[in-house]
Amino acid sequence: MMYDVAVVNYERPLESLRKAVDLAGGLGGVSRDSKVFIKPNFCLWHEGVDFPKYGVLTTARMIEDIVILLREHGVKDITILEGVIEIERGPESVLQLVAKGMGLDILAERYGVKMIDVLKGSFARVTAGDVTLSVNRDLLDADYVINMPVLKTHTQAMVSFGIKNLKGVLNIASRKKCHNADRSIDLDYHLAKLPGMLSPSLTILDGIYTLERGPLYTGRAHRSNIIVASKDLISADKVGATILGFAPETIPYIALAAKDNGRPTDLSDVNIRGEVDIKTALKPHKWEFEQNESGDLPLFFERAGIKGLTYPQADKTMCTYCSALIYYVIWGILMAENRDRPFDDIEILHGKVYEPTEGHKHTLLVGQCQVKKNGENQLINHCVKVKGCPPSKRDLLEAYRELGIELPDNFMDLMVKIPDIFVRRYVDQPEFDEAFYRIQ
Ligand code: SF4
Repeated sequence: MMYDVAVVNYERPLESLRKAVDLAGGLGGVSRDSKVFIKPNFCLWHEGVDFPKYGVLTTARMIEDIVILLREHGVKDITILEGVIEIERGPESVLQLVAKGMGLDILAERYGVKMIDVLKGSFARVTAGDVTLSVNRDLLDADYVINMPVLKTHTQAMVSFGIKNLKGVLNIASRKKCHNADRSIDLDYHLAKLPGMLSPSLTILDGIYTLERGPLYTGRAHRSNIIVASKDLISADKVGATILGFAPETIPYIALAAKDNGRPTDLSDVNIRGEVDIKTALKPHKWEFEQNESGDLPLFFERAGIKGLTYPQADKTMCTYCSALIYYVIWGILMAENRDRPFDDIEILHGKVYEPTEGHKHTLLVGQCQVKKNGENQLINHCVKVKGCPPSKRDLLEAYRELGIELPDNFMDLMVKIPDIFVRRYVDQPEFDEAFYRIQ
């Protein structure tokens, strides 16, 4: 069997998406009475500070365009559904902030679009092979699901498209389970099961902006003007990978998903429709933050002149809660007032599997999993722990004090402003247009 995948250039609102959807086989499976769900990728929001959304979030433009196409088709019952993990609960959920920030409430007034927070709903246990995960019930009850992620790379999964976007409809316990410490059933293994649990009716990869070293704005965005659309999830992802410069068989979870479903891991069962040459359209996108030659420090630390620190690469076992704190761990080092002098031989361990190396003066364990695994390890001389799941920022500040890492007094205020540094990368470049992220 061959699967159609449309790949078109994004040239103008609505018509470019219409072309992609038509080439992918159209909206034939939708009826006027269908209950349609759209699952975008809204993975974060920073309230009160500007941050680059390019290649990080699904564009508001593309969301409104798919809603218009659905309405033209007579569909009345349209819901946007997303589940953003909240590290610290404020008066409004992150999803409410996204909706306000992108003007999604206008879609409610204009087209009657509803919004559902995955994490406030109920979940049903769904099994594929030997994996059972808890999936949002609203999505399972939908008549038609449009999966609408961004065309971006990911520092743990290599790429993040349609399959990875479905992780956002799981409950928190299942998301943690996906980051399993057992390498034989790791993140790739779990992601590969998602197509067997959920089968979106249509997958659209929003590549107006693409992202290197994603999934967050610390990566580098490009204006790429590409839309991929397919009724087949695995094919959409295989093509997405190729566009970003990866042979699909080299992305472990895409290859596993293909094999699980009796499919080839390459493009031999995919029929490309459209005018884009998927192998040459974009320059290859980098996905990881490389380590230095000796493998004990990320290159960005080495280039910043950081010494006296051992810091392993982020691995697949770290879940979102710890990833959020790691942001503070890293910026704490880069902003430390004594960063120009060697630190006092500190090793930092995170995730679920890293072991201490012998002979360091101090070892910082970040997160409950590390504390449980290595809290009593005899190889550690001076053990400093940031406990909890999620681990707390306050404990991290205390740990840094104990380790002699001198944070500026206004560190937490400075952290709020960090996204602004990344906004500056894109100023005076008209192709980076914030209007794509605001319903007009
Ligand atoms: S401590 Fe960190 S790695 Fe462990 S389960 Fe919690 S978030 Fe995941």
